Amino acid sequence: MDMIINGTAAPAADETWIEVTNPATGECIDRVPRGSKEEVNAAVEAADAAFGEWSKKTTRDRGLILYRAAELIRRDHKALAALLTREQGKPIRESTDEVRGCANIFEYYASIAGLPAGEMVTLGKAGDCLVTRVPLGVCAAIIPWNMPVLIMGWKVGPAILAGNTLVLKPASTTPLTNLRIAGLMQEAGLPQGVLNVVTGPGETTGAALVQHPRVKKISFTGDCATGHRIREMAQDHLKILTLELGGSDPMIVMADADIPKAVEGALRGRFYNAGQICTAVKRLYLHEKIAEEFLRLLTAKAESLTVGNGLLPGTDMGPLNSAEQLGRISSVVSETIGREEGVIRTGGCPLTGSGYSHGFFYKPTLIADVVPDAALLTNEIFGPVLPVVTVPDLDAAIREANRSKYGLGASVWTKDISTVKRVYDEVNAGIIWVNRHLIVPPEVPFGGTNESGIGRENGSKALDSYTQSKTLYLGW
Ligand code: NAD
Repeated sequence: MDMIINGTAAPAADETWIEVTNPATGECIDRVPRGSKEEVNAAVEAADAAFGEWSKKTTRDRGLILYRAAELIRRDHKALAALLTREQGKPIRESTDEVRGCANIFEYYASIAGLPAGEMVTLGKAGDCLVTRVPLGVCAAIIPWNMPVLIMGWKVGPAILAGNTLVLKPASTTPLTNLRIAGLMQEAGLPQGVLNVVTGPGETTGAALVQHPRVKKISFTGDCATGHRIREMAQDHLKILTLELGGSDPMIVMADADIPKAVEGALRGRFYNAGQICTAVKRLYLHEKIAEEFLRLLTAKAESLTVGNGLLPGTDMGPLNSAEQLGRISSVVSETIGREEGVIRTGGCPLTGSGYSHGFFYKPTLIADVVPDAALLTNEIFGPVLPVVTVPDLDAAIREANRSKYGLGASVWTKDISTVKRVYDEVNAGIIWVNRHLIVPPEVPFGGTNESGIGRENGSKALDSYTQSKTLYLGW
């Protein structure tokens, strides 16, 4: 079976297609098939058939293909970035970063080909054991629309380097750049069947993939509720799971922080990708000594952001990815204000008028004096809306930061090492940044605690999650 890259063959009826919309203009830019159960089966069969040969290659040979794919992604980065902006909405500068980020991930995994290492265990007179790491077989990658290219890299890189084959299901609103990159991987020499892409809705195409008995592992990134649903579906066949779910990252700014730097951190941390990032700054806790000045500076910066079509030069923030997203963000803000749970400092409504009429644009929004149990603080807000809370001291900041069901990331902005130590020890999160937020390098493990998920991506240890140990017991 050939590598299946949907979007090439024309199905007969219209209801078998999904339209891809440019969120800046509301125009349909392309369409991809609604993958049926049969297509999912065919993709898994293709992956299964390719596994034997692929798993027997040396990791060096597999790594070389990742290197070549990274070169091709760099060669085509302008076209890939433009396509990503057209389907996802983010400014071209951010799309370029994301496309390069995918190339970086492939290069990183190629550079550590040879891992994961096995071990030799000696048992004295009882013998010796050789423990190796072997690939799992067919894996499934199900990804969201917010960072589709980067997250494709996080999953494809380690999965195929470790010798597995893969079926990838993109999000319905952003399948195009994923398909283009899969094509470049084929051009880089990836054998047929090693990477298969099936497009379609989560509830049908995604669910069929999760439930397929020959899929050994599912690596899912997306919403918390979907993660729980996938976990239930995967139970029947005891599948291995990596679940990268939502986050509600707190950013804590202490009185001794470098304020201009922290203001820039909050601005970028919340409004990059229109706030649609799992590790975005989703709750801002300001020490009372600097709170008012900080908010004044941040409000001015937020109001100076140029919101518009991501393809236009000078755009700082693009639209939200879909009409549904815009509806969700608009509702949560108007409900917050209706319940008097906070006070709008800037923004608080969609952008309308010339240049905005058909797109899904929302104003960069800051909401101050947010009460402790507000939905803005307890739920994940996946858009350009930042709730701000003033705290009297570090104890209160840590206590409030931990009042969340999530535990993905957190940052503290300070010059005091003892403050850093306390936040690192006491705040529940998979990563604690100091005087930074958002950055997730390919070299370090990434993932959350609590409702933010199970398992880690990135770093050399991600290879472990795509392998299992196998032992040769030598009884001399
Ligand atoms: P989503 O859960 O709606 O969709 C994610 C993917 O799952 C899509 O491909 C979708 O088609 C598929 N899907 C949906 N229902 C399914 C089902 N029943 N069975 C199988 N597949 C199904 O999430 P989203 O709205 O696309 O993404 C936003 C969410 O992703 C946010 O919560 C965000 O925080 C999270 N996210 C987390 C990370 C992380 O690494 N922790 C990174 C990025 C995004």
